[in-house]
Amino acid sequence: MCMNRMADPLIRVQGVSYAYRVREGKSIPVLHGVSFEVHEGEHLAIIGHNGSGKSTLAKHLNGLIVPDAGDVLVDGMNTRDKRSLREIRKRVGMVFQHPDNQMVATIVEDDVAFGLENLGVPEDEMRRRVDEALRAVGMEAHRDRPPHHLSGGQKQRVAIAGILAMRPRCIVLDEATSMLDSYGRQELMEVIGRLHGEGIAIVSITHHMAEVALADRVLVMEAGRIVMEGTPREVFRRRDALVALQLDVPGAARVASLVHEARPDFREDRILASEVVEEVVRLAPRRG
Ligand code: ADP
Repeated sequence: MCMNRMADPLIRVQGVSYAYRVREGKSIPVLHGVSFEVHEGEHLAIIGHNGSGKSTLAKHLNGLIVPDAGDVLVDGMNTRDKRSLREIRKRVGMVFQHPDNQMVATIVEDDVAFGLENLGVPEDEMRRRVDEALRAVGMEAHRDRPPHHLSGGQKQRVAIAGILAMRPRCIVLDEATSMLDSYGRQELMEVIGRLHGEGIAIVSITHHMAEVALADRVLVMEAGRIVMEGTPREVFRRRDALVALQLDVPGAARVASLVHEARPDFREDRILASEVVEEVVRLAPRRG
């Protein structure tokens, strides 16, 4: 993690409001004056009940949606400025929920090369970047396969490779693991963890609280506003507030608080399975 709070943020969201225009004269207001920053290299999770505006917010981060009011600045460039969109999308890539909707080519390596072709990257440079990206997501053995032969998790890794080939500074994952089985989710989270370790910022929208527990910071949304912000430990400590927003806490956090009720010396603020295990080991009587 290479967070530098003093430096300019990678993404600055300032007072963003947005409404979908559904019919002549009718609109659905979704975001109301949302402000936050994404710093270089940080892992930010965004949670909130269905319909709270998370996806709409995510689409603002690389200019897929432009705010009605307020601004989104990526590396200082305003998403309103059409001439900057190409540079903005090189820096911030998005992975969506449905793996199938993201494949554009008939074989994996062409899919990964697609964005680079559009940018007019020379052939040998393109080859090098595609190799590197496929290796980073562990998909080099599948490069010649048609994407529809892959599992959901593999497809999502190919989608990430397509973004990586552009050398992004941030990857936004909008419920990217929600269509996957637990094995696919695990594989994807390992790839994400590695990329974060290499300094790429991650913005992850998810309802899997075990994934949220891995983030550096969490934003909680409700009805188009940010209603809570903090580290995962700070946010999960406010369990009553989360329940009121119909949100859960990680299984490990639930176990920790149940054990704490029975054994008050067991720390209640443990949110990862590995932390619960450490706590058990710390308190277990040693034999012999
Ligand atoms: P979340 O990701 O938190 O579930 P969304 O951003 O997807 O929330 O949706 C927020 C609100 O915007 C919902 O009421 C949803 O019905 C509405 N909405 C989302 N997309 C559209 C659209 N393309 N047209 C009209 N309304 C939309």
